[in-house]
Amino acid sequence: MSTQEPNEAAPAPVPADATAPPGADALADQARTENRVDASRRRRDMPDNLWMQCTDCGKLIYRPRVQEKLYVCPDCNFHFEISGPERIAMILDPGSFQEHFAGLSPLDPLEFVAQKPYRDRLLATQKRTGLKDACILGTAQMGSIPVVFGVSDSRFLRGSMGSVVGEKICRGIELAGELGQPFIFVSGSGGGARMDEGILSLMQMAKTSAALAEYDRQGGFFVSILTNPTMGGAMASFAALGDVIMAEPKALIGFAGPNVIRQTIKSEIPEGFQTSEFLLEHGFIDMIVNREDLRTMTIRLIKYFVGDCPEARSLGQGRKRVFREWLASTQVDAAGATRSQPSNGGSAGVGARNS
Ligand SMILES: [Zn+2]
Repeated sequence: MSTQEPNEAAPAPVPADATAPPGADALADQARTENRVDASRRRRDMPDNLWMQCTDCGKLIYRPRVQEKLYVCPDCNFHFEISGPERIAMILDPGSFQEHFAGLSPLDPLEFVAQKPYRDRLLATQKRTGLKDACILGTAQMGSIPVVFGVSDSRFLRGSMGSVVGEKICRGIELAGELGQPFIFVSGSGGGARMDEGILSLMQMAKTSAALAEYDRQGGFFVSILTNPTMGGAMASFAALGDVIMAEPKALIGFAGPNVIRQTIKSEIPEGFQTSEFLLEHGFIDMIVNREDLRTMTIRLIKYFVGDCPEARSLGQGRKRVFREWLASTQVDAAGATRSQPSNGGSAGVGARNS
């Protein structure tokens, strides 16, 4: 899509289309948006393309080293955004992913026009990303255990939840229930609900929540993995409903953005508000896990939950209760190591150390 970009910055965050400046016509808007993207990228990129500037600590970092660390800043541990296919390659058993519901494509029932017609933005984004919408979903294996896996890709309209994302998540949850398998979803959704679809987007919050409630009644096991950023309607529904909720370090997670909150409550918000670390401290998420440990940690959780019985449907609420008690008594640090909460002299934890 970009034509003036000398150095393509793979992990650079893409600005929200919804914030494009108002202008005379769509083409001028698009050019302005692209210029702005290019300018912000140029600031982060050095001409030789081997160095980039970390958006969090501001330091110059060696790009191959960042890639080697799975797109994590080697200096401050900031986790850059990655695409859905990259996530699939990092977290699932190699070659195990089989995409489902790939034919679902968004419509434009409201014929919505903001600064640009929704239809045009969809077509442009589909062309740029090769995706039909923001969610990729399918069956896979993790540590040889069959799972249903989904990811929202923030390159596609900020990973916002429109009717296709909501529908795919629901179908994924229902498939996991039918197959008796754990459901794993990695959220990267800075856009929240996709307002171009109005109420059809908002109703996905209730729809995905209802599907998860039914899956829970069946004794299913949902691991929700939050990445930078997970905001708005995604966080206000399915993403916050995991049996286990983990987050990558320093991820922006919340509902409304800090400026909106500040204006609404008319007071200052606490330091570090809406970060993984703040949410862990306040009991909103269960654990923070570094990207390089995410696969191992997820497999350990699934194995602990599923045990030696691969049919989750036969597990039911009894095992779920045992699991929740174990989780409540266990602390997990960002390196994916677990230990039991100090209670009576610090006996060995249920979870073994991951080293
Ligand atoms: Zn950094």
